[in-house]
Amino acid sequence: MAHSESLLVLENFIGGKFVPCSSYIDSYNPSTGDVYCRVPDSGKAEVEAAVKAAKDAFPIWSSKSPLERSQILNKMADLIEHDLEAFAQAESKDQGKTITFARTVDIPRAVYNFRFFASSILHHVTECTEMSTIGCVHYTSRTPVGVAGLISPWNLPLYLLTWKIAPAIACGNTVVAKPSEMTSVTAWMMCKLLEKAGVPHGVVNVVFGTGAKAGEALVCHPDVPLISFTGSTLTAQRIMERSAPHCKRLSLELGGKNPAIVFNDADLSQCIPTTLRSSFANQGEICLCTSRIFVQRGIYSEFLKRFVAEAKKWKAGNPSDPTVDIGALISKEHLEKVRSYVKKAQAEGGRVLCGEGVDSLALPAGNQKGYFMLPTVIAEVKDESCCMQEEIFGPVTCVVAFDTEEEVIKRANSVKYGLAATVWSSNVGRVHRVARRLQSGLVWTNCWLIRDLNLPFGGMKASGIGREGAKDSYEFFTEVKTITIKH
Ligand code: NAD
Repeated sequence: MAHSESLLVLENFIGGKFVPCSSYIDSYNPSTGDVYCRVPDSGKAEVEAAVKAAKDAFPIWSSKSPLERSQILNKMADLIEHDLEAFAQAESKDQGKTITFARTVDIPRAVYNFRFFASSILHHVTECTEMSTIGCVHYTSRTPVGVAGLISPWNLPLYLLTWKIAPAIACGNTVVAKPSEMTSVTAWMMCKLLEKAGVPHGVVNVVFGTGAKAGEALVCHPDVPLISFTGSTLTAQRIMERSAPHCKRLSLELGGKNPAIVFNDADLSQCIPTTLRSSFANQGEICLCTSRIFVQRGIYSEFLKRFVAEAKKWKAGNPSDPTVDIGALISKEHLEKVRSYVKKAQAEGGRVLCGEGVDSLALPAGNQKGYFMLPTVIAEVKDESCCMQEEIFGPVTCVVAFDTEEEVIKRANSVKYGLAATVWSSNVGRVHRVARRLQSGLVWTNCWLIRDLNLPFGGMKASGIGREGAKDSYEFFTEVKTITIKH
C-alpha cells in the first residue's frame, strides 16, 4: 500500500532511547479505514535488546526504596494527566472509541493506575510468626522478580498497559512491554514522558509488533521469568504452552461471556440505562461487557420494549464528535466477525430487534469506510447457540426470559467463561445468594463497572488465571521468602 509523507511512524523504546526498526506494519484509523500510522514489526532481535536493557537496569531500580519509586510513579501520573487531551485524541483515533470514552475512562484510569500503585506500594506489610517456646521468629520478605514481560490488548490500550506497568515497576521490577499492534500510539507517547518523570533508562522498554513475532519472542525469552497477559483465551493457551519449558509465572486476564440477571423486582429506571452501557460501551469491546441478559418472565416484555427503544437512540458516527455514543470497531476483520454472529443467531432462530440488518447507519462523509455497527439486540436465542456461548466482543447482546432463581443461576453458569456478572434486584438476600453462586470473578449488583483497585480483579474458568489489584499485583510481581531466626 502506498504511504503518504504524513504517516505517523513509531519507534521501539529500548534502554531509554527511541530505536527505529527494520520493518513496519500498517496501522489503520478504524473510523476512516485509512492507514495513518506505521508500527515497528519487531522480532527476536528487538526483544533481545529490550530484555538486555531491562536486565541491566534491574540492579539499580530494584535497590531503590518504595518511596523513591512511588515519587517517580506519581510524576508519571502528573505528566500523563497534563497531556490528557492529547492522549485521549490519540486513543480515539487509534482504537475507534469515542473521544468522550477516551477522555472520561481510558486516560483518567491510566493516570490513576500510576497514582494508585504509587500509593499502595507504600502500605504493604509482611507476615511474622513467633514460636516462643523454642525461641524462633519467622517472617516473610518480598523482593522484585526481575524482568517482567507485559502483553496487552487493543480494546483499552493505555488503560490496560499501565495497569501492568505501574505495579510491575512499583515493586522494583524492570519491564519489556508489548502493546497490541493495532493500538500502539499511546504507549509510544507514554515513552516520551518516562525520562522527565525520572524513570531511569532501561526500566521501561516497549517493543511494538505482532503477537506471533514480538509477543512470542518475549514469552519464550529465558531471562523474562514472568508474563502478565491480557487478551483472548486462545492466545493465553498458546502462551502457556510456549512458556511451559521455562516454568514462567503467568497472570492471565482473558475473555468473558458476561450475564446480566434482571429479577422482577429490579429498578428498571436504573437497570435499563446501566445495562445499555454494560452492553454497548466502547462498542461492546470491553471484556466486562454484558452479552447475555436474563430477564424474569414477569417483566420480560416491558424490559425488552424499553431496552430496544433506548438502544435505538444510540448514535454511531465520527468518534471525535462528542455527541456520538458508539465509535468504530477495531478492524474490518473484527467487524465482519461480529456481523457474522448476528447472521448465525438468525440462522439459529434468534430475532434481531434493532441494529445490524434492521436499522440503517447514517455516517458522515468522512466515515463511510469506517468499521461501524449499531447496538444490536437479539431475542429468543437458545442458551446453547454460539451467540450465547462464544465471546463476540462487539455491540451485540442477547435477551432471554427465565422463571426461577435456581434456573437462572444454572443457565448463567453454563458457559466456559467466568469473568463478570451483574444482578438486578431490590431483594438484598437474593442479591447475596445469587452473587455467591455465580461462577464469576466479579459480580456487580444494581450497578456495573464500579471498581475499587484495592480488591482482586480477574476471571474464573476460561476467563483467566490469577488476580490483579493492590495485594494481588504485589504478590504477583514479587518473590516471597520465609526467613527463620533462632534466638
Ligand atoms: P489477543 O489475544 O489477540 O491479543 C492480545 C495481545 O497478545 C496482543 O498484544 C497480541 O499482539 C498478543 N499476542 C497475540 N498472539 C500472541 C502470542 N502467540 N504470543 C504472545 N503474544 C501474543 O487479544 P485481543 O484481540 O487483542 O483482545 C481482545 C481479547 O482480550 C478479548 O478476548 C477480551 O475479552 C480480552 N480482554 C480481557 C480483559 C481482562 O481483563 N480479562 C481485558 C481486556 C480484553
